Amino acid sequence: MRPEREKDIKNTETGGVRRPSLFRCPVCGEGLLRTESGLVCANGHSFDRARSGYVNLLTGRPPRLEGDTREMVAARSAFLEKGYYAALRRELESISVGTPEGVLLDAGCGEGWFLENIAPARHTAALDLSKFAASAAAKRLGARERENVEVAVASVYDMPLASGGVSLILSVFAPWCGAEFRRLLGKGGVLAVAVPGAEHLAELKRIIYDRPPHPEPKEHRHEGFELAEEKRVTYRIELESAEDALELFRMTPHSRSGEAHPERIASSDVRTVTADFDLAVYRRV
Ligand SMILES: [Zn+2]
Repeated sequence: MRPEREKDIKNTETGGVRRPSLFRCPVCGEGLLRTESGLVCANGHSFDRARSGYVNLLTGRPPRLEGDTREMVAARSAFLEKGYYAALRRELESISVGTPEGVLLDAGCGEGWFLENIAPARHTAALDLSKFAASAAAKRLGARERENVEVAVASVYDMPLASGGVSLILSVFAPWCGAEFRRLLGKGGVLAVAVPGAEHLAELKRIIYDRPPHPEPKEHRHEGFELAEEKRVTYRIELESAEDALELFRMTPHSRSGEAHPERIASSDVRTVTADFDLAVYRRV
């Protein structure tokens, strides 16, 4: 039984109905109610909704990783808008269609581009450590207007959601956080993880690095999960311009590497780049 205060209750001041949020209070762990201006828990902790529609639920210690910068988010939005990663998005969409109804969580949603077609059809919570990403995702997904879509700033290592309440988690180019995935997914729940494959952006990496870094080996055995499906999505991207190649660089973690030489991109004639994604689908056991 859920506590009484989590049900819809009348807001006597506005006459409106406050609906329960998918998110939990990051301070006390109680359920949160959605109000006109944000989220509030029974203990009075409140979190304002930004104009774009996201809520910042990051509290306490600074997170382990840095969120994406404004520049990274802008570059990725511009790049993704051109559809270069549409094949991966379609794969994720078909996973969502094939997963039983229930809450979808995007753990590290970026600007929400991969969720754009999925979110309207499901009860969706999207999280990102970057407020710039969360803001872009909230706008893209209509978090302000849609009752079934909520976007928050939070760490994937400490997600403000109830245990066992999620049926599908998407983790796209986001950190693996096994303990949280296990806690959040109900039995039979599905976890879809997309990471860059060994050949991803190989042509670009050969230009910007003197010695391109080796990708980390993939590990598919994880406590609490069985691998249901593994798929490699590989194809060639024909970039329209050197500017697109630079955007591609700026949106990746390579832009934070001290070893990279992005200035070489403009003088290169790189136009064809390999897209290579490893997609793994796990079932919670
Ligand atoms: Zn609270």
